[in-house]
Formats: sequence, C-alpha cells, structure tokens
Amino acid sequence: MVPIPRVGPGAEFEPLRIGRTERVFVLTGAGVSAESGVRTFRDAGGAGFAGDGRRPQGGASIGLWYEHRIEDVATAKGFERDPRMVWRFYSERRRQLPSVKPNPAHQALARLAQEREVFLCTQNVDDLHERAGSPEVVHMHGELLRSRCHSCERPSFVDAAGYFEEPPRCRCGGLLRPHVVWFGEIPFHLERIFAALDKCDLFLCVGSSGAVHPAAGFVSHLRHTGRARCIYLGLERPDNAYAFDECRLGKAGELLPGLVDLR
Ligand code: NAD
Repeated sequence: MVPIPRVGPGAEFEPLRIGRTERVFVLTGAGVSAESGVRTFRDAGGAGFAGDGRRPQGGASIGLWYEHRIEDVATAKGFERDPRMVWRFYSERRRQLPSVKPNPAHQALARLAQEREVFLCTQNVDDLHERAGSPEVVHMHGELLRSRCHSCERPSFVDAAGYFEEPPRCRCGGLLRPHVVWFGEIPFHLERIFAALDKCDLFLCVGSSGAVHPAAGFVSHLRHTGRARCIYLGLERPDNAYAFDECRLGKAGELLPGLVDLR
C-alpha cells in the first residue's frame, strides 16, 4: 500500500527541514527553466495551466516543442530523415541560450548545494544550473552546447556553433549530431544516478511532468526502498504524483527560494 500524497498549493506547506547529514537528490525538468523563458513540452501549442494546478482540459499538446513535432526534432529517425532541419532547430536553441538567464529556482538550488550534500540531476539540456553556480550537474539527457558523431565513437565535445545551412560532419565523414538524448535512446549516467538515488534521504523533483521515462520512474524506485522523503514542486500535479509524499504546487521560482529551513 502506498500512502496518498498530500497535494496542494505550495503556500499551504511548512518549510522543509533538511538535517546537516541528509543527502539530497534533486531532479529537475523543463519546468525549472520555464520562468527563464525556455519553453517546456507542455506549454507548446498554446497549452496553459489552470491556476489551481489542474491539467489543462482539451487542446493541450505534449507533442510539440517550439512548434515542431517531437518525432521530427527529438528522435534519431527524425534526424536521419532531415538532419538539416534538426540542426536548424538545435542551432536556434543554441542561439537563444545566451539571452536566457538563470531564475530564482536555479539560484536557490545552487545555494542549497553550498549548505548540504546535493546530487543535482537534470533532464534539461540548457546550462542554467551551471550558470546559477551549481557545482556539479548531471545532464541525463545531454547538453545543448555539445555535439557528437552520429556514426563513430568519437567522444562528445563542446560546440556552441549554429548550423543553419549544411549539417556538420565528423572527421570520419559521418554526420555530427547534437549531444542530446532523443526519445527511444538511453539516457546518460544511469549508473551514477541510481547509486545516488539509493543513498539519498530526500528526493526533490522540480518541474517535471512525470511522463518521460526513466526519470519519471525514479520516485517509484525510491518507494521500494522506502527510505527517502519524496517531494514534488511544480505548476501542476505530475503524472507520477501517487508516488510522492507531497506535491507542492506553484512556480519553481516562487516555491524554491523559501522552501528549505536549514537550521
Ligand atoms: P515537460 O515539458 O514534460 O513538463 C514540464 C513540467 O514543468 C510540467 O509538468 C509543468 O507543469 C511544469 N512547469 C511549467 N512551468 C513551471 C514553473 N514555472 N515552475 C514549476 N513547474 C513548471 O518536461 P520534463 O518532465 O522535463 O520532460 C521532458 C523532456 O523535456 C526532457 O527530456 C527534457 O530533456 C526536455 N526538455 C528540456 C528543456 C530544457 O532543456 N530547458 C525544455 C523542454 C523540454
């Protein structure tokens, strides 16, 4: 039996007490960057959210990202079909990145890492956690500012360039691709991630719909060990809400700065 989670507006909850020796696992999703102006999958296609955190009724799409179909820009098949279009899409995201700034949610997580042992795992490909000062960030879905070869084993490398005309090629002759994990591909660093999950005392998930696996399954994994408190923070009830102890609803940039009582 899994207890029913407490779900409600963040303001109704008391600050979280985190003991000095507690190990905190933070998982962030697209929602943590939303207030910086980076769009999530769910707010594409004009989908809005009810102020009370309910899922939007009708017309909401999770199949679009910046007006592109997910299968066109976030799958290997889409890339193989039209590498030029996919590179244009990611080049545009790269071009926008410098004008996007970390928000109070990123900053609060960076401060938390100064005070407590934090393992910060993000599904985001942006670099906003790093720019906010988080000392170590595990990018399970890769990084926008890196590229790798689609054909050979050459390791990924830093690449902020935009490719709006011809898709770039590796020295082996194969196509280079953005160093991001597309749907159907295996995320990075899973061994490290599960080792950190198994050690954590508090699991804090921020702005993730709970619809994309394996990240969506981390909280259920923790349920089996039964050790960690599991808290969700985000605009709406996530799909995996049942597995959390608490779902505090609201904007990450408003909830996170006052969330933790470190005394
Ligand atoms: P998602 O788009 O499926 O869900 C985002 C969640 O954030 C939603 O549940 C929404 O309610 C919540 N949200 C929106 N605004 C918020 C705010 N201000 N504060 C708190 N929560 C807010 O995103 P996901 O669960 O991270 O999942 C999927 C995939 O999206 C990942 O693979 C990720 O790589 C990719 N993605 C990344 C970025 C990025 O790098 N910034 C942006 C879009 C999508």
